[in-house]
Amino acid sequence: MDINSSNIEQIVKQVLAEMGNRTSAGASSSGNGTIPKTAHVAFLTGLEKFEIKEYPIPEVGDDDILVKVEGCGVCGTDAHEYKRDPFGLIPVALGHEGTGEIVKMGKNVTKDSAGKALKVGDKVVTCMIFKDNPDITMYDLNKQNVGGADVYGLLPDDDVHLNGWFSDYLFIRKGSTIFNVSDLDLDSRILIEPCAVLVHAVERAKTTGILRFNSRVVVQGCGPIGLICIAVLRTMGVENIVAVDGNEKRLAFAKEMGACASVNFKDFKGIEAMADGVKAAFGGYLADFAFQCTGSPAGHSNIYKFIRNGGGLCELGFFINGGDATINPHFDICSKEITTVGSWVYTLRDYATTFDFLKRAQAIGLPIKKLITHKYPLEQINDAFVTNLKQEGLKIAIVNK
Ligand SMILES: [Zn+2]
Repeated sequence: MDINSSNIEQIVKQVLAEMGNRTSAGASSSGNGTIPKTAHVAFLTGLEKFEIKEYPIPEVGDDDILVKVEGCGVCGTDAHEYKRDPFGLIPVALGHEGTGEIVKMGKNVTKDSAGKALKVGDKVVTCMIFKDNPDITMYDLNKQNVGGADVYGLLPDDDVHLNGWFSDYLFIRKGSTIFNVSDLDLDSRILIEPCAVLVHAVERAKTTGILRFNSRVVVQGCGPIGLICIAVLRTMGVENIVAVDGNEKRLAFAKEMGACASVNFKDFKGIEAMADGVKAAFGGYLADFAFQCTGSPAGHSNIYKFIRNGGGLCELGFFINGGDATINPHFDICSKEITTVGSWVYTLRDYATTFDFLKRAQAIGLPIKKLITHKYPLEQINDAFVTNLKQEGLKIAIVNK
């Protein structure tokens, strides 16, 4: 056996954890007692390299919650981290679009962040780690989004190690936000986080006063974000939606999701022709409102041409810095009097709204769960990321057995 310092460290931690288990018996409620001593975590240990590591499951304290992970979506942010480590987090336990079942919780934990009762066996998702920031609350719509806050799956490694949803157990500590979503099935729960991004974007768009019933709306970019955008618009009564993308398969899915027409920008040469294409798709009108859901600077530059005078724009495609985009302030903004909002991540309130959105979308027959095109077990996480980078599917998910 190859004994090195990290092995010894692990053995010591395991012994300490077991001692903790004995001394604090009765301090926490637990489920059926089948919790293993160790958890498996997919650690990104280098660029494009996950390794499954085994760590002792720490003693669950009075304010802690141990969750058995059922699944977690792969996000664009994860893919950036996998390829280039822009956040400098390696080695890191990734996975922030996860969900699972409470298997043990401390005696101080009684309710979720929306005030709903919590018990062992409930299915949950986490949002941000609160850190006592008074500007982030559930109930004030005007409070800031959760950008910059800590989330499980993007935390620096620490002594607990069970910090990301690409694992079989997640250790949730005091100060975290958690929601009881037992009334949603697994696929819906995996889609909560990306859907919250669009619930927030549409809330931002509504602040312009331009987005209404029967507005003509362009959604540019039909990756998961654009497709969910169409679904959110449909659930709030916007039906006149034109999807813009360069991929016919994605455009076909956009129509399934509720777009009434699609424009493949590859069919047009130059932005004026493309704008005419959008106009034709609306029966001779430009859009009242546009959602820019690509990460392409050219996509940002072009979209103004699709919007009527006095229309609105929500830019939500640049979750990371994708470079500068050129616009003509006179033609694009000033003379047309375009109202623009940016949107990034979501507020806690949007997160809770998203649970209802998912139910409503399915109630009106939108194929929201078809967004998950690939499922991999935890051991095949490297393959999952290769598939994700090839951009063959839409949402790739890790699903535990
Ligand atoms: Zn994400």
